[in-house]
Amino acid sequence: MGVGRRAKMVIVRLSSGDSPLSLLFHLMIAGSIRYVPVGYPEREKAQVIFTLDNGYEIRFRDPRKFGYVKLLKGDIGTAPELSRLGPEPLSGEFTLERFQEMLKRRPNAKIKALLLDQSFVAGIGNIYADEVLFHAGVLPTRQPGSLSRDEVGRIYEGIRSILTKAIEEHGSSIATYVDIFGNKGNFVSFFKVYGRTGEPCVNNCPGEIKKTKVAGRGTHICPVCQK
Ligand SMILES: [Zn+2]
Repeated sequence: MGVGRRAKMVIVRLSSGDSPLSLLFHLMIAGSIRYVPVGYPEREKAQVIFTLDNGYEIRFRDPRKFGYVKLLKGDIGTAPELSRLGPEPLSGEFTLERFQEMLKRRPNAKIKALLLDQSFVAGIGNIYADEVLFHAGVLPTRQPGSLSRDEVGRIYEGIRSILTKAIEEHGSSIATYVDIFGNKGNFVSFFKVYGRTGEPCVNNCPGEIKKTKVAGRGTHICPVCQK
């Protein structure tokens, strides 16, 4: 058995049987996976439970029921969720040069919509897209064709540094997210725009954080620092 991640999904490869079997978990907005001993409290709050032969359970819990668990047979690369994904942003293949090339092919899209598009680049969600664009000083409605080389460089650097930091801090617990041991992530305290509507900008500019809608998603910006 091995556990990995692709884009925003957790993949558990199972060791039994001749043909490979994997479990795919998508936590979506509010899901969590717990690894607990059999008999651990709150079993009834889990929607899916796997009992392991070591006396532990894997419990998938999702109070908002947007998430899901799937059993994949054979080569996982052919699963619909996994076959059309863009590059992993923290991998060696996602270089600045490649990012520049990718943007050139989508000159008229909104930059935030592209960052959220899993077939463009995998694994960036709404919170991180807002934080990356604030870091870069770029408005989410900008189109790649209008971005300077410096702006593209700052977006690229923001993607790498913010995702790395968020992983180090074990993610962002807005409401329900916990890791497999039930611990909350600490990255919320590092948010600079997300969830800070009406607060003064952390850059001490004269602006305050504004909430708008871009690509159908709640979007947080500093109208002074982001251009
Ligand atoms: Zn500002």
